[in-house]
Amino acid sequence: MTAVRQAADGNDHPMDMIDPFGRAITYLRVSVTDRCDFRCVYCMAEDMAFLPKKDLLSLEELDRLCTVFIDKGVRKLRLTGGEPLVRKNIMHLVRQLSRHLDSGALDELTLTTNGSQLARHAAELAACGVRRINVSLDTLDAEKFHAVTRWGNLARVMEGIDAALAAGLRIKLNAVALKGFNEDEIPDMLRWAHGRGMDLTVIETMPLGEIDADRTDQYLPLSLLRANLERRFTLKDIPYKTGGPARYVEVEETGGRLGFITPMTHNFCESCNRVRLTCTGTLYMCLGQEDAADLRAPLRASEGNELLSRAIDEAIGRKPKGHDFIIDRRTKRPAVSRHMSVTGG
Ligand code: SAM
Ligand code: SF4
Repeated sequence: MTAVRQAADGNDHPMDMIDPFGRAITYLRVSVTDRCDFRCVYCMAEDMAFLPKKDLLSLEELDRLCTVFIDKGVRKLRLTGGEPLVRKNIMHLVRQLSRHLDSGALDELTLTTNGSQLARHAAELAACGVRRINVSLDTLDAEKFHAVTRWGNLARVMEGIDAALAAGLRIKLNAVALKGFNEDEIPDMLRWAHGRGMDLTVIETMPLGEIDADRTDQYLPLSLLRANLERRFTLKDIPYKTGGPARYVEVEETGGRLGFITPMTHNFCESCNRVRLTCTGTLYMCLGQEDAADLRAPLRASEGNELLSRAIDEAIGRKPKGHDFIIDRRTKRPAVSRHMSVTGG
């Protein structure tokens, strides 16, 4: 008989991973590579040192790990990175994982991408049962795009977005709000995204990893951005949820949705339902804390999944209540030393 536990959300979860604060863990984000073909200024230093390829889990190992999480109650899985679509043969993993959509064990398989390789992969992603994806885009201006990504080409990303829409994928654009960089552009991005049937979500920059810039120069509280937008648009709070931390409003003038992810000005940890796995098999229970669990050793120690399952339970048993991010002139150090590209955004 399947054991059933009731979590803080009031729902019954068969055999689920419930953390010490009663939160059911139903969402796994997997960083399939720490590498990327961009060097976004808020995410990476220009001369990043990447993990040696030999430390990476194979695609088969990643599939096995994901499958164990799905068996333990994960219903939503997001591939991220680094740039997930630069990992060699990544579509093999997507094809493999799609069997869990077919079986009904997984509700959603999705990814977060910078869009640079999307034109090549959009049709196959759709064929594998991926229904919606997040594409990160901070500006619609080609020169500014090149400046913020250091290595990116906006035209290629636009081709990727076109291909994804043509393949029937729904797109949510993610823009990091950067002071003095794109704050004035958000209204245009909003009209453009909504005009093409895409949602837009703005994100506050988080102090993750050493970068070349001073984060206090980049940080824009979204409360300020929202107040500015409200001078031009009518924003209506709506209860729409995607399983992530964004709070949504409907923009009356465009009829589209705008999301706000505010890790700095509003703590959303109380409803956290996720954990993050890196490409070396390290599990982070919180984006903003150093504590982690090694799942590679139990994965490789035996062919069965018992050790792995036990290691996952122990890790979930130490999921912290939340994080505190601070960006100010006095706090020069990042909250955690690893970059977003390691843990996966
Ligand atoms: N390369 C893919 C992409 O850019 O979409 C996936 C990985 S990236 C780390 C995931 C998301 O994290 C992106 O939307 C990016 O803008 C965001 N991100 C990276 N560093 C961040 C930071 N320090 N604060 C807030 N968001 C960040
Ligand atoms: Fe690469 Fe994404 Fe980080 Fe930009 S935000 S450097 S695209 S991993």
